[in-house]
Amino acid sequence: MAESRKVIFIVLDGLGDRPCEKLEWQTPLEAAFTPNLNHLAKEGICGMCSPLEFAVAPESGPAHFELFGYSPFEKFYPGRGIIEALGTGIKLKENDIAFRVNFATLKKGKIVDRRAGRIKNVKPFEKDLSMELRGVKFILKAGTEHRAALILRGSNLSHKLSDSDPRKINKPPKEVRALDKEAEFTAEILNEYIEKACKILSNHRINKIRRKKNLPEANCILLRGAGKFKKVESFKKRYGLRACCIAGAGLYKGFGKFIGMDLINVKGATGSKDTSIKAKFIAAKRALRKYDFVWVHIKGTDLYGHDGDCIGKKKFIEKVDEALGILTDVKALKVITGDHSTPCSLKEHSGDDVPILFHGVGVRRDKVSSFGERECANGGLQRIRGKDIIQEILNLIGKQRIIE
Ligand code: ZN
Ligand code: ZN
Repeated sequence: MAESRKVIFIVLDGLGDRPCEKLEWQTPLEAAFTPNLNHLAKEGICGMCSPLEFAVAPESGPAHFELFGYSPFEKFYPGRGIIEALGTGIKLKENDIAFRVNFATLKKGKIVDRRAGRIKNVKPFEKDLSMELRGVKFILKAGTEHRAALILRGSNLSHKLSDSDPRKINKPPKEVRALDKEAEFTAEILNEYIEKACKILSNHRINKIRRKKNLPEANCILLRGAGKFKKVESFKKRYGLRACCIAGAGLYKGFGKFIGMDLINVKGATGSKDTSIKAKFIAAKRALRKYDFVWVHIKGTDLYGHDGDCIGKKKFIEKVDEALGILTDVKALKVITGDHSTPCSLKEHSGDDVPILFHGVGVRRDKVSSFGERECANGGLQRIRGKDIIQEILNLIGKQRIIE
């Protein structure tokens, strides 16, 4: 009996979609062969979930805050830079400022490649780009591929800063601007840092090698998403559940860390299309022995959506379904959904609801017999919001909030 009170929460990023012509006007989830998901839908309850407000398209960051009940997200969200920084594994201190960073290629004053040819590893730059300027510590931490985080530590720093990333190629990097008076010192010292960093990069041995090999140089850093670190109430304190996070991409690891979850690093979990879904589910099954709440995040669905590749998305969902076989005999409450829709026809996030299912002991059953957008719209859960998920989970594991 005690076992059924455990929870496995699987988030397929950008799962929801719209009808695709190439799939005979089905969505990738509808068109996919998913016997395991359909079985769960049949024995459980389904519905549609609106991650934030109805018909609003969220970024993954805000969406996850709502999905885990840190709602309204504005109250808790520290900015993308902070979440990405935590995802690199760095321990932040109260009032640290952080940006997400892209290594890019600069030629004749203009950005010609925002990802420096998707350089595989920027770790060798960490040490050379970490320094102290006028009493402010700058710490650069490598993320995956061309990504990194920049942390500023010191007194009187502000995160009210604009981005330096022009977001487009053939434009020069922007100056970081202070968005209010208190941020003027931070902006000034940051621009000084960026200039220094780019000089160091131009003469860096890695770039000398890249030049020789005719690869785009990583000779510039682009900053965006400034945030300030403030501790929030941990997931465990909030819900009384020991929780862990199994994810590949930095943003999700960072979010897990931010709400005090333990991170379980899984070999082969890349946060990309080539991720090992099976390895994640095997790790999840093992983690359920120790934790009450295991969150598994899978990014691939969103990436195929952004590429507009509905057949790829359908096949990826089929891989997830096959791997779900690993969890068949797990008695925990299973919850499966997405953090938003990423329709292949749009190649970006939309405000469409996302299918959701609950399966486990005590869950009411409805008439839905397959997991897909049009079936779930007729489900017993009807239409819920992201922040309702955690309440529903608590309700189903006997930890429902009682209002007197
Ligand atoms: Zn997402
Ligand atoms: Zn996305």
